[in-house]
Amino acid sequence: MDLGFSFDNSYGRLPERFYTRQPPVAVRTPSLLALNHGLAAELGLDTTALQSPDGVAMLAGNSVPAGADPLAQVYAGHQFGGWSPQLGDGRAVLLGEHVGADGARVDIQLKGSGRTPYSRMGDGRAWLGPVLREYIVSEAMHAFGIPTTRALAAVATGEVVQREAGFPGAVLTRVAASHIRVGTFQYFVARRDTEALQALMEHVIARHYPDADGPLGLLDAVVAAQAELVAGWMSLGFIHGVMNTDNMAVSGETIDYGPCAFQDAYAPARVFSSIDQHGRYAYNQQPGVAAWNLAQLATSLLPLMGERDAAIEAATASVHRFEPLFQAAWLARFRAKLGLAQAEERDAELVEGLLAAMAAGGADFTNTFRGLSDGTVRLAFADAAPIDAWQDDWQDRLGREDRSAEIRAEAMRAVNPAIIPRNHRIEEAIQAGLRGDLGPFERLTAALAKPFEDGPDTADLARPPTVDEEVTQTFCGT
Ligand code: AMP
Ligand code: MG
Repeated sequence: MDLGFSFDNSYGRLPERFYTRQPPVAVRTPSLLALNHGLAAELGLDTTALQSPDGVAMLAGNSVPAGADPLAQVYAGHQFGGWSPQLGDGRAVLLGEHVGADGARVDIQLKGSGRTPYSRMGDGRAWLGPVLREYIVSEAMHAFGIPTTRALAAVATGEVVQREAGFPGAVLTRVAASHIRVGTFQYFVARRDTEALQALMEHVIARHYPDADGPLGLLDAVVAAQAELVAGWMSLGFIHGVMNTDNMAVSGETIDYGPCAFQDAYAPARVFSSIDQHGRYAYNQQPGVAAWNLAQLATSLLPLMGERDAAIEAATASVHRFEPLFQAAWLARFRAKLGLAQAEERDAELVEGLLAAMAAGGADFTNTFRGLSDGTVRLAFADAAPIDAWQDDWQDRLGREDRSAEIRAEAMRAVNPAIIPRNHRIEEAIQAGLRGDLGPFERLTAALAKPFEDGPDTADLARPPTVDEEVTQTFCGT
């Protein structure tokens, strides 16, 4: 059956040591949990066919669509700072690269599709919870305008996946610019395989950064993309949670939604991940960790950069540009959040002043910024005095802007979401899903497709959790 895929598998044409050819492992009784109609249409896929038994069989990995060339990619990585010389797709296969009518090339990957040579002790499977979580959060991230992998579909497998208990198995179809990671480069440099490094670099440049000139140009481009990306996360209160080098895509997309979370009450050192005991990936550590990861990419590219001392100097300078690029991107985002169209020298202080008041008052991150645009910011603070004092400074600053208050408020509403995927709502959707009720999941994803709109129908989704509702810990999606 023609589902509308048009595969051209450039990664599969790279040398054999980049992957292992591996079909998905069939599951017992696939059924469709969710299909992303908007994304399917964007990709030129046939939504009717995808929902048919043949389509669902493909989304479950029970059949391989024509033109696909399934493989598991190999990579390495630093996990919580510790070196793992060989990782790889342990519970995913890349079906191939779909090229849309507009020429855009995307990876189509099945996640939870069974064991591969890189599964180590794992079962190669995923369960409903992490699959729905990734679907919800990655699609929200897209709606926020932040580069991200996307979710095309989720299917139930009809099999039980054993974790702390038995859970219903599921497969996510993930769509990405590519799944090439910092850890992919690290894998080859650790093996002193310069030929493979060269091929990988050329592949990534052709695919993601056609204007980049050689390894240094590529490094510069990835540094810039990550500075933008992490600034985007920070502007939403997002905590990735597992910024290992194997979870950093060189394309600049957010990838690997495991123990991630959006903060409710703002705390700069907030951590959600159950395994991040030392706060390595805390909210305020993310820019520093991104730079650390980029230094690993720089190290991996050195063998391609010619004479060693000069290469180290140039690569170091490139990584050092992360900090000013991040600061500039961060300030641009927060200026927009505060409704500032012009730049003044002390704007960063104004932002920091607000964040300090928010931290002191445990104010809801999302509702503070949204409240600034609709005059309800005090509601996010238990004690109004600090935010009142800050608002005096802000009003002074707004007095030096030329936009009308109305136009400014509209611009602020377009960058400060009303609705984010709050942890307790994700958890609620998963718990309902486990009972066979996808209503809350569907309602949440529908609302998050338009996160900058508010209204009475979604007021409950905009509300922060009560103490009883709060979910303070998240888990890796294994
Ligand atoms: P992550 O923490 O999700 O980035 O995963 C780290 C590594 O563990 C990757 O190589 C995954 O493919 C692998 N992995 C995670 N869960 C499983 C599983 N259930 N079965 C096999 N491999 C897994
Ligand atoms: Mg990963």
